[in-house]
Amino acid sequence: QSHLLVIIIFITTLLTPITTNNTSPQPWNILSNDNFAGKLTSASSSVEAAAIDFGHVTKILPSAVLNPSSVQDIIDLIKLSFDSQSSFPIAARGHGHSFRGQAAAKDGVVVNMRSMVNEDRGIKVSRTGLYADVDTAWLWIEVLNKTLELGLTPVSWTDYLYLTIGGTLSNGGISGQTSRYGPQISNVLELDVITGKGEIATCSNDTNSDLFYAALGGLGQFGIITRARIKLELAPKRAKWLRFLYTDFSEFTRDQERLISETDGLHFLEGSVMLDHGPPDNWRSTYYPPSDHLRIVSMIKRYRVIYCLEVAKYYDETSQHSVNEEIEKLSESLNYVRGFVYEKDVTYIDFLNRVRTGELNLKSKGQWDVPHPWLNLFVPKSQISRFDYGVFKGIILRNNITTGPLLVYPMKRIMWNDQMSTAIPEEDVFYAVGFLRSAEFDNWEAYDKENMEVLKFCEDAKMDVIQYLPYHASQEGWVRHFGPMWNTFVERKYRYDPKMILSPGQNIFR
Ligand code: FAD
Repeated sequence: QSHLLVIIIFITTLLTPITTNNTSPQPWNILSNDNFAGKLTSASSSVEAAAIDFGHVTKILPSAVLNPSSVQDIIDLIKLSFDSQSSFPIAARGHGHSFRGQAAAKDGVVVNMRSMVNEDRGIKVSRTGLYADVDTAWLWIEVLNKTLELGLTPVSWTDYLYLTIGGTLSNGGISGQTSRYGPQISNVLELDVITGKGEIATCSNDTNSDLFYAALGGLGQFGIITRARIKLELAPKRAKWLRFLYTDFSEFTRDQERLISETDGLHFLEGSVMLDHGPPDNWRSTYYPPSDHLRIVSMIKRYRVIYCLEVAKYYDETSQHSVNEEIEKLSESLNYVRGFVYEKDVTYIDFLNRVRTGELNLKSKGQWDVPHPWLNLFVPKSQISRFDYGVFKGIILRNNITTGPLLVYPMKRIMWNDQMSTAIPEEDVFYAVGFLRSAEFDNWEAYDKENMEVLKFCEDAKMDVIQYLPYHASQEGWVRHFGPMWNTFVERKYRYDPKMILSPGQNIFR
């Protein structure tokens, strides 16, 4: 019966006409609504800013932008849309660091979540409970700074910390900590969510659990998350941060997989691909000693593609005596090219915030606000060698246009909860692969074409690769993306956002 319901829902969805200016409700009609006085604006500077994102490849204009000062403002707005005969689209916008208009609301209202940030409230830390209650408009760097004041820290991170809590929880939130702690969505104890009906609910694993798991990785489809309770641990003081270079992909992945299988091992593990495109560093980090650049580059020239294993071990006063010994043991056990190991000893916060320097550097050169045709994938472990051969050593070398960071590192399925909305591969271990490209306004399409080529290669080879931070141009793509989870995704949409109001920029429902 439930299968039939989903089919009916699906067909209805396909038949629902795309909202046009003629039939759409008029968000501008509510501009004069007293509830939103001074908060809702159609000023061109506001709507223009809300129309673009970090990707700089889309421009999707809303009719208005809401700058809420309270949760009630957001409830009022969603209710207004839900109760009206013809609803208008609404999208929460965190820090707008999507790549493809995911936080946009064409002809609707973008909710500028950052206007909720208020120094006096929004982050409450419980030392005894080891958690922080956080308004989701805060950036992860802001939460880190607050919790560190009490010697505590969240455990799971993204590489870059200037993203909102709500934005990353709507996707997953992954980094080198994911193999040990799980993604950020596995480290949340409770949420407050305003559904597409304008109803607010507190949810957790025990209360309203369906909504809780729907919202985690839910691409903003089921509600606007306004509060998250995030797990904390005692903060370490420093990190040993190491890189090992490999010329052999199977040695590289074998070492990565062994290290993530060790339960009490490293706190962070990533990896990247290095190609012959000038100095070994890239915008994301300046790491290698300049005196070694030449020998690294000549190794890349010789092998054309080499790999870098990147790990970190945290420590503090109590563990500082053993950490060097552990690092030494680790180095001995790995099959990297001898002589190509690099080590840094940095503060915990400098380690977590390592991408910031690169950002500021690019900003100073006017190279931050440029097109970013990124592609992020989850590749099953059984397919990663084929991927290396066909993509890194195939498509990428052949086209010879990809520069920027190219990440490849494994994570364990067991650290994810099946009920969460993020789609991940079936295998116990899968790899996150990220093509973090920077382009020019007149050449980004070449990179996008290469992305399509990579996706087609994976599809033709039936590799069961799934996009992370996904973009699909058609609903058919989304059905394939979610696979067996699609029915649940549709059922949840009808349960929590039956009028299809929320986050239309994801392009999943019309
Ligand atoms: P936005 O782009 O504003 O929104 C993203 C989506 O979430 C939209 O659909 C929006 O409607 C919805 N949304 C936003 N807030 C809420 C809310 N409160 N409730 C419900 N829905 C909401 N990701 C990783 O996992 N790991 C990384 O290491 C990583 N590094 C990155 C580095 C850079 C430089 C950039 C630009 C992005 C990176 N990302 C990474 C991707 C990032 O996590 C996502 O793009 C994330 O969505 C950005 O957060 P945001 O606050 O800018 O969200």
